[in-house]
Amino acid sequence: MQRAEYPEEIQNLIQQLKRLPGVGPRSAERLALHLLSTRTQHPLDLAQALMAAIQGVGPCSRCGFYRGVRALCAVCDAVGRDESVLCVVEQPADVLPLERTKGFNGRYHVLGGRLSPLSGVQPEHLRLALLTERVRAGGVSEVILALSADVEGEATAHFIAQSLAAEPVTVTRLAQGLPAGGGLEQADELTLFRALAGRCAVR
Ligand SMILES: [Zn+2]
Repeated sequence: MQRAEYPEEIQNLIQQLKRLPGVGPRSAERLALHLLSTRTQHPLDLAQALMAAIQGVGPCSRCGFYRGVRALCAVCDAVGRDESVLCVVEQPADVLPLERTKGFNGRYHVLGGRLSPLSGVQPEHLRLALLTERVRAGGVSEVILALSADVEGEATAHFIAQSLAAEPVTVTRLAQGLPAGGGLEQADELTLFRALAGRCAVR
C-alpha cells in the first residue's frame, strides 16, 4: 500500500527548513505547517524580510561587518570612535558581542574565517591583505586579535602577528577564557569584557 504524503509544495518547504541550523525533521515539519496554517500576513512578511535582507545586506567595504544600503557599516560610519585601535574578529557575527560589552570603542576588521590548512583555508581566502593595508594606511597603534582559542585561531593569530611584525603597531590578543572553537557569540558579555580588559601582547 502506498503511503500518503504531503503535497510536493509542503515537502519542498520542509526540505528547505530542514537545512537551517538546529532544525530537525520534526521541527521543520511543525514550522512548515505552522507557516501554512496561520491566517495572518506573517509568512509573507517573513519571506519579504528574507528577500530584502539577502538583496540589501552585504559586507562593509572597509571592515567586512554587515552593511545595509550604505557602502560602510554602522561602526565604520560612526563618528567619535577610536581610530587607533583595530579589533580583528573571524566572523561578522563576532562584532556585536564585543559591542555589547561596551568595553571597546575602536574599529573592527572581519577576516571571514580563520586559517585552516586541513580545510583548505589559506591566507588569500581571508581578508588578511586588507588588514595589513589598513594598518599601513596609518593611524592604528594597536591591533587586538579576538580570535577563537583553538589551534586554528592560534595559527591565525601567529600569522597576523608575523605579517604585522614590521609595522609600528602593538599586536595584542584577548585574555584566555573564551570557548575554544565556539566563536565569540558563545561567550557571555562579562567574560568577553574581562578578556578584552586583560588582553596581552602577542610575541
Ligand atoms: Zn565597516
